[in-house]
Amino acid sequence: MKPDATSAQPPLLEIRDLRTWFPVRRGVFSARAGWIKAVDGVSLALAPRETLGLVGESGCGKTTLARTVADLERAQGGAIRFKNEDLLHADAARRRALRRSIQMVFQDPYASLNPRMTVLDLVTEGLVEHGLLRGGRGDEAERLLGEVGLGPDAMLRYPFEFSGGQRQRICLARAMSVRPELLLCDEAVSALDVSVQAQALNLLMDLREKHALSLVFISHDLSVIKHVSDRVVVMYLGRVVEEGPVEAIMECPLHPYTQALISAVLIPGRKRGPRQILPGEIPSSASPPPGCHFHPRCPKAMARCRTEAPAERAVSGCRVRCHLYSGESHKQNIQ
Ligand code: SF4
Repeated sequence: MKPDATSAQPPLLEIRDLRTWFPVRRGVFSARAGWIKAVDGVSLALAPRETLGLVGESGCGKTTLARTVADLERAQGGAIRFKNEDLLHADAARRRALRRSIQMVFQDPYASLNPRMTVLDLVTEGLVEHGLLRGGRGDEAERLLGEVGLGPDAMLRYPFEFSGGQRQRICLARAMSVRPELLLCDEAVSALDVSVQAQALNLLMDLREKHALSLVFISHDLSVIKHVSDRVVVMYLGRVVEEGPVEAIMECPLHPYTQALISAVLIPGRKRGPRQILPGEIPSSASPPPGCHFHPRCPKAMARCRTEAPAERAVSGCRVRCHLYSGESHKQNIQ
């Protein structure tokens, strides 16, 4: 679903220069020896009813970014505005109220459900906690389970009695119970079998339409990202390296990292070019390479890439951080 009017509407979520760093401690006194810069200066915006696909290798910071937005990690700096309210500096009560509108769905549905609670208690817990329960708990549970394709017979059972796909449906019912406006889906369908994955994705898309949700969809599967997203953000070592409309990113990626990611997978409707294999692994975000963080693995690295971090540039409707698109290099590298 495309946002109704991306440019005309104020963003639902706006992130500016966000930094989520974790201290590295060493020695008997646990003195701070440095920082793991999991998210390092990320800015992005999400319009109402828009779906943003977030991609990058493990360790690029995409999960930490989502967890920071969901208030599961503390940011060291920057700003997160939700419906134009400052999430990071709101008082505890306001923050809790705003957070209700932002729900996270995790990869492992079993780990995110308390095994000692019945499904009835699991899906209505948030309603009770936020004072949203209007009728009986059983009626609400039945309605919520119906929305995710489960019958009332599920109510008195425990999570271990369900398959992975059904558990993810329970997680979705639980997330939807508090009437969120934004869902952060962190590899939400990745652990499921392919056939079940398609059902879970369709359910998610139906809920998105029905409840006018905005979605941040994190996945390593670019064909899924292409299927669900309006825009795509590509992260590398805590930073956004490219962002743009899904068609532009999939058909004509600008950043060498995005090009390599896309060349490695078969995406429906896209002619596959030669596969680019990146040397080495993503470096530690405790000691990122100087200049462009990607330079040790980049097939197009130049001398300046080793010392100078590329600034963000607008190119062909996308935002990209790469020296290939600055000054004279720019014209040669736009195809
Ligand atoms: Fe490669 Fe240089 Fe562009 Fe970084 S700035 S992606 S090293 S060409």
